[in-house]
Amino acid sequence: MEQYTQSSITTFAECKEKYRLAYLKNGFGIKPAATSIRLVTGGIIHKAIERLYLGQSIEKVTRRIERAYSRAMRDGVSETAQNVEIEMNATIGAIRGYANRYPKEIAGKSHVKYVQFEAPFKVDVKWPTVGDVTLVGLIDMVGMSDKYTYLAETKSTAQISATFKEDIELAPQMMFYLLAYIEKFPLMIAKKARLVFNYLRKPSIRPRKNETLKAYMIRVTEDYGARPEFYFNREVQARTRQQVESFKAELIDIISDIRRTTKRNLWYRNRKACNARGRCFFFDICAFGEIPSVMSAFRNKTAHHEELKGGTDGKATEKTK
Ligand code: SF4
Repeated sequence: MEQYTQSSITTFAECKEKYRLAYLKNGFGIKPAATSIRLVTGGIIHKAIERLYLGQSIEKVTRRIERAYSRAMRDGVSETAQNVEIEMNATIGAIRGYANRYPKEIAGKSHVKYVQFEAPFKVDVKWPTVGDVTLVGLIDMVGMSDKYTYLAETKSTAQISATFKEDIELAPQMMFYLLAYIEKFPLMIAKKARLVFNYLRKPSIRPRKNETLKAYMIRVTEDYGARPEFYFNREVQARTRQQVESFKAELIDIISDIRRTTKRNLWYRNRKACNARGRCFFFDICAFGEIPSVMSAFRNKTAHHEELKGGTDGKATEKTK
């Protein structure tokens, strides 16, 4: 059955050519040959936060972070070794800052208890117009309180917009997860769910001249403690049944459009999207064509949705105590 992630849907809505390159070219799509440090750090932060909630000590989590950056260096990352080391210490400082910010929640002593991490879903649906499709993805954290189920997404970002609270009203990712959750558990209803937008700003300070990286890491942790409102942005929101239904109608329309575009092989470009969220990593292909010198910077993907390579049939990591 055709599978869609929120990322594939968003990519298509953003730029059809980007979707073709990312999900169809050469079978499963293509991606930059060297992983960007931004992506590496995003993945490491997610994993580190998960480990904290699962009860791992900060020392153990720190060692995991160090190993993860060493692996990234070995596998090929688009940064110098020195910058990767700075990034690693900044990440350790940030994670220590996070642990200091939410100690009760991490220890399972707040009113919301997070019980599942990287919760995979694979939901087969039969919808009008598009028929059978499968929604797949991973929810960062699922929590429970006496009243609600919480679906949480953590993002680490360099900038947080001044209009953060309004922006997330329209964010498609959490709506996709909520819709999938409701389709998967028919007894679940929108009013019993809460969406948690857990944003962590990356360190805004850099090492000083002659400062050791260990001293820099400690200074980063202290900076998180001194300016929590700058670094931590968290918003908990509800969605109505009508909002979920209207999102579902949009999704059906986008899926119909993906099929129509694929059939006609007409992948027009949206030039407004090229620099909308940083420079699109396919920019050189669009600007200079699929010539060998440009294409050598890309490699073939091994699955349409590589971010789910752990599988969506598996189980979430569960907190057992
Ligand atoms: S560079 Fe622009 S036109 Fe090309 S795929 Fe990216 S967003 Fe689309």
